Amino acid sequence: MDMDTTSTRAHDGVRTAPRALATEAVHAGRDDLARQGLHAPPIDLSTTYPSYDSRGEAARIDAFATTGAEPDGPPVYGRLGNPTVARFETALARLEGTEAAVAFASGMAALSAVLLVRGSMGLRHVVAVRPLYGCSDHLLTAGLLGSEVTWTDPAGVADALRPDTGLVIVESPANPTLAEVDLRAVAHACGSVPLLVDNTFATPVLQRPAEHGARLVLHSATKYLGGHGDVLAGVVACDEELAGRLRQVRFATGGVLHPLAGYLLLRGLSTLPVRVRAASATAADLAHRLAADPRVARVHYPRIGGAMVAFEVHGDPHEVIGAVRLITPAVSLGSVDTLIQHPASISHRIVDADDRKGAGVSDQLLRMSVGLEDVEDLWSDLDGALGRRPDRGAGNCTNNHDAPALAN
Ligand SMILES: *Cc1c(COP(=O)(O)O)cnc(C)c1O
Repeated sequence: MDMDTTSTRAHDGVRTAPRALATEAVHAGRDDLARQGLHAPPIDLSTTYPSYDSRGEAARIDAFATTGAEPDGPPVYGRLGNPTVARFETALARLEGTEAAVAFASGMAALSAVLLVRGSMGLRHVVAVRPLYGCSDHLLTAGLLGSEVTWTDPAGVADALRPDTGLVIVESPANPTLAEVDLRAVAHACGSVPLLVDNTFATPVLQRPAEHGARLVLHSATKYLGGHGDVLAGVVACDEELAGRLRQVRFATGGVLHPLAGYLLLRGLSTLPVRVRAASATAADLAHRLAADPRVARVHYPRIGGAMVAFEVHGDPHEVIGAVRLITPAVSLGSVDTLIQHPASISHRIVDADDRKGAGVSDQLLRMSVGLEDVEDLWSDLDGALGRRPDRGAGNCTNNHDAPALAN
């Protein structure tokens, strides 16, 4: 795979040979630890930092106000930057192959900061491709931050651009249908307008959008990056110029990540490649079993793989949600255990029903985030939850795909 080796960018001023993604996952953001006589990264919970040189502080704050670059020297105040969070940012930037990354309190705080940066430059118009995560769709559709959105398909992006377009937004694979977008083609269509790719579902293990021309790569770090269902966080990987603007917005609006969350995310990254590959293998296996099952009308599984599977049932999807025993019926995704949810009721409920259906999110659709359990245990739970198999020869075996019976 062409994306297995990360760039040689020296975030800590250290020159390094190109290192593979799996190596970066356990070492990036930790380069200084051995020299400090440490092995696990320290957690710095300070909200403020002493300084006897207020002239120096004035100069550092002026510099931040101009460029948004991280202040040199010791930290100033928790809302301006935190050393533990910075380790996670450094590591994620390495994995995505970008100059920088800026962490936020949640994925939605990260997206909000991007919209505020572009809006503050007078570029309020956004071009977006459905489906997006339900709340991202809602934020744009409701114009909560003063943006105006034009929804289009990937082929319509170039025609939808206006002089005041500040951003193009896509998700690939998209939440919840797992529809994929040709990132290189869309990046080309964007011209000089920055393309934001929500890479939450693929993670940098399967796809690095910056290599395909995306200027901003967004994650709900709540999902695979944290990986254990116990951290709410967001992050944007991008070039240093945009990162500076994002840090300025974060400082002024306060959507910062807690240092303990930064620690847990850095720890989560170290097992990201192993978790994603293991869960993806199980997900691909389950996708094939579902596709061959007469109780399932359609299976969505992306070409690039991944640990998410979506499927449409012939019967009542609410019955399936009510019948799982090992799998947890819950929104969110990317944890070590398997979760299932009904997008039309939960993750995409806030999207207008017609818009939802237009984006391919049918009322029969279930979205499953496959974890690290044994595949036979998962299949036995799903098999039970799908209910009675139709009688052989009953004529309702309407699986609409021949082998490989997978959409997307
Ligand atoms: C969950 C999710 C978000 C929102 O992230 P939060 O951390 O819940 O704020 C954004 N994009 C995608 C694709 C998501 O799945």
